[in-house]
Amino acid sequence: MNHTTVPAYAAPSPKAPLERITVPRRAPGEHDILIEIKYAGICHSDLHTVRGEWGDDGNFPIVPGHEIAGVVAAVGSGVTRYAVGDRVGVGCFVDSCRTCENCLAGLQQYCTGELGMVGTYGATGRDGQVTYGGYSTHIVVDENYALRIPDSIPLDAAAPLLCAGITLYSPLAHWKAGPGKKVAIVGLGGLGHMGVKIAHAMGAEVTVLSQSLRKKDDGLRLGAAHFHATSDPATFEALAGTFDLIVNTVSADVDLDAYLGLLRTGGTLVQVGAPEKPLPISPFALITQRKSFAGSMIGGIPETQEMLDFCGKHGLGADIELIRADQINEAYERVLASDVRYRFVIDTATI
Ligand SMILES: [Zn+2]
Ligand SMILES: [Zn+2]
Repeated sequence: MNHTTVPAYAAPSPKAPLERITVPRRAPGEHDILIEIKYAGICHSDLHTVRGEWGDDGNFPIVPGHEIAGVVAAVGSGVTRYAVGDRVGVGCFVDSCRTCENCLAGLQQYCTGELGMVGTYGATGRDGQVTYGGYSTHIVVDENYALRIPDSIPLDAAAPLLCAGITLYSPLAHWKAGPGKKVAIVGLGGLGHMGVKIAHAMGAEVTVLSQSLRKKDDGLRLGAAHFHATSDPATFEALAGTFDLIVNTVSADVDLDAYLGLLRTGGTLVQVGAPEKPLPISPFALITQRKSFAGSMIGGIPETQEMLDFCGKHGLGADIELIRADQINEAYERVLASDVRYRFVIDTATI
């Protein structure tokens, strides 16, 4: 058997609603594992991709989903890391060149090799086949690109950790959020709510900067010590020079100079949201207090495992709203309206 076909939800063409189809999955090779997917999170990137907003013509039909949690159902003959029944996850990529400096350092998300980071969906893998993501019942991946999900995290709450969780964990760890550090998270959505939980668990003093005070109770419940509205100009005066680290999860236009003004001397503003247009920045906002503006994208395999283990130890998962597969299109509309607290997760048994 060369491959099998499995049910999935796909966008047949850009901007078309998602519908049920079947897609091929390769037969597990020597180092592959077959995962029975239990849950798949809905990430904002899924919407951008199926709507053709990120500039590529895309490999339609696209089966989105790169926040995957499931159970190992079969293993190839050479698999050593996993056994049938293990709880596992798959994040934003399923392969990379494995030989470049970054891959060797465990930074597969920044692979500079010819193959590059192979996205979990809509990409072309080393076998020349298009990848299909987690809105599906099964997926086959190389064991080196799967993650172990600790028993203490329910699988549905674990799924969003594979993108939203690591997207925030990586910059918080890299820029050393921890005791004695004041950290601001800009935006309290799918990404931001994980940022608050993780930064708080790391021991930092966390502030949420949200457009309004509408989600204040949630922010404080999730672990923030302070919550301020960015629509109020007084916020930027009151908090000037406060933070060691600010992580901006907002993908809309923001006034970067205003946020840089909230950093202490030597502080760093990290961008993880991806706006379509360039954002202006005044060099003086950086120069005069040795501040940094930086970017960060998901995390490599070792750091993603570290994040899952950290979340397991601290009892962290995402706050989710579980949906059936036939509610995906409706959920997309609600994601666009920021009407979710804080991540939709698909029960893949309903596909
Ligand atoms: Zn994502
Ligand atoms: Zn590489």
